[in-house]
Amino acid sequence: MIWFLGLIALIGGALAWRAWRKRQWQQEVLASRLTDTEWQIIRRQVPLIRKLPPALKAPFEGKVALFLNQVELVGCNGLEVTDEMALSIAAQAALLVVGTDAWYRHLSTVLVYPGAFKSKQTRQDGYVVTEEEVVRLGESWSRGPVVLSWQDTHQGGLNGQDGMNVALHEFAHQLDDLSGQTDGAPPMAPGQDFATWAQVIVAAYDRHVARVEAGRRTVIDAYGATNHEEFFAVAVELFFERPDALQGAEPEVYDQLALLLNVDPAAWT
Ligand SMILES: [Zn+2]
Repeated sequence: MIWFLGLIALIGGALAWRAWRKRQWQQEVLASRLTDTEWQIIRRQVPLIRKLPPALKAPFEGKVALFLNQVELVGCNGLEVTDEMALSIAAQAALLVVGTDAWYRHLSTVLVYPGAFKSKQTRQDGYVVTEEEVVRLGESWSRGPVVLSWQDTHQGGLNGQDGMNVALHEFAHQLDDLSGQTDGAPPMAPGQDFATWAQVIVAAYDRHVARVEAGRRTVIDAYGATNHEEFFAVAVELFFERPDALQGAEPEVYDQLALLLNVDPAAWT
């Protein structure tokens, strides 16, 4: 019995030590700074970063470094991932979480295709399961990889004002998934009330679906009417790229995202 308890204590100790080492390593990486060349590339590839308030520059740099240390970027269909590509993707991923402690802790791989890629989609209708091939610009797997079209990720980074950004979209799904489920309800920020979040988001989603079904123009992309998780992801794209538009159309959604991500892009100049 004693030897068994000793073994448990030993395993527990080893696990705690590993977790502590990992936290130490993360803190060290988060404290690192980007070089001038890296800054130049990021400013060119993702001009939106130029608007970051000074107080967010250091957290941004640390998160770009942590992303690049933790995540392997794998080129697909013959694509060779360059430093420009890696920094563009890391910068867009870091932008999303620049103000928060939320982190892509399960993400270890991003697959990068040269352009739009084909993906298999399984659909179940009663007892009938069909598999079809769909063309995608991006994809996010629960606890699994993010898949990106470089052409669209590049374009999304270069144009920071059209409200469309595939990288922010897919990484928003990764944040959402930190709750254990990709369902449009990510873990709340400290002190954020989930009941208020749910009430605001569900009401805005219902309004959005009604407008889309009525064929009316919407500020939030019509794709957001697919389900709650897509609504969350397209709202995040708009939140960073056209914050004034989101604030004007759905002020409460803007406020909830600002609380969740602890940033206020409408105030960035
Ligand atoms: Zn999506």
